[in-house]
Amino acid sequence: MNNSNKARKITLKRGKDASLRRFHPWIFSGAIQSYDKDIVDGDVVRVFSSDGEYLATGHYQRGSIAVRILSFDDEEIDKEFWKRRIAIASELRHTIFYNATKETNMYRLVHGEGDNLSGLIVDVYGETAVMQAHSTGIHRSRHDIAEAIVDVMQEKITSVYYKSATTLPYAEESEERDGFLIGKTQENVAIENGLKFAIDWEKGQKTGFFVDQRGNRNLAYQYAKGRKVLNMFCYTGGFSVYALSGGAELVHSVDSSAKAIDITRQNIDLNFPDITVHEAYAEDAFKFLQRMEPEFYDMIILDPPAFAKHLNAVKSALRGYTRLNAQAIAKIAHGGILFTFSCSQAVNKEQFRLAVFTAAAEAKRKVRILHQLHQAPDHPINIYHPEGEYLKGLVLYVE
Ligand code: SAH
Repeated sequence: MNNSNKARKITLKRGKDASLRRFHPWIFSGAIQSYDKDIVDGDVVRVFSSDGEYLATGHYQRGSIAVRILSFDDEEIDKEFWKRRIAIASELRHTIFYNATKETNMYRLVHGEGDNLSGLIVDVYGETAVMQAHSTGIHRSRHDIAEAIVDVMQEKITSVYYKSATTLPYAEESEERDGFLIGKTQENVAIENGLKFAIDWEKGQKTGFFVDQRGNRNLAYQYAKGRKVLNMFCYTGGFSVYALSGGAELVHSVDSSAKAIDITRQNIDLNFPDITVHEAYAEDAFKFLQRMEPEFYDMIILDPPAFAKHLNAVKSALRGYTRLNAQAIAKIAHGGILFTFSCSQAVNKEQFRLAVFTAAAEAKRKVRILHQLHQAPDHPINIYHPEGEYLKGLVLYVE
């Protein structure tokens, strides 16, 4: 009990401590009996059962998720805490990449609840760490966290860019949401499995790149040889670069954002300056699928944005996944390979599979599942927080 002077106190209602005792990292506002009256967003809070037993320490925030737990030990949340936790996260990445045969210097260093650091995301691109806060508590600690990253990673990380304008709750109330906290790297080309990607952490989506698809892109590389590949929702063209590297006969990339198409072209040029078999289209995916010639492509990747951002949007999201997949399954060439994904946290594996099953039945094709995919291991799932399993994918063989 070493931080009792600074931390605020929260007491839970009787019987509302069960999920915390199973190490779930969130406390919903309905579970709370009493707060210290001067509590404000981002305060460190110590949480007690109705009997006065210490349970956990976390960050308080107005709203449905009232506390995001950082520790089940009664420890102080200071710079040393961040250093200890980032060292543990770094050690795990060391384990994951220990046997890698191809160079990769971009990866997720901290994955929120998956690294027992609810509210914090850190992606590494070469010597730059891009840090994202999803809670006011993380925002208030941003300088300590940035220093902890550089201390732990030593010379491997020289700059920390903070990118939280779109992720912070009540963002309008906070100052300084985007910009370098430490250093100012110029170099923005990072390497994944030996392939080069230009990362725009300032203006790009999320932290600039979807590192969670690394392993799945590598699988696409293995299937691409001699195939005509359509990469739908291509964003930075990750799957396209891998497919070309794997010997695809041609690759077409589609994204509704003109900016994404520019980045895709740039990444193709970085890796294959003389290639003539790649085309990129700034177009709506559903329209493209409608107008495309049947049986032209024998490999299609569907990696749409999250169709369901909330639980109450699940039904319409599932209809969207079915509609999208039905078109692709109907039109893919015989013997075609379809990579299909959902990154909606609110849609679970079974629901997504049912949506794709419905699509296959509508298209009246013979479909078999070759692989069941998920996020890369540097996006670990805390076993006590199953909500963290957000990326789901299937690789289908369509006869
Ligand atoms: N596959 C990518 C990530 C996809 S993110 C990767 O590996 O990095 C989703 C992308 O879908 C975004 O780039 C967004 O611009 C695009 N998008 C959203 N709605 C779309 C639509 N209706 N048609 C085509 N692209 C769309």
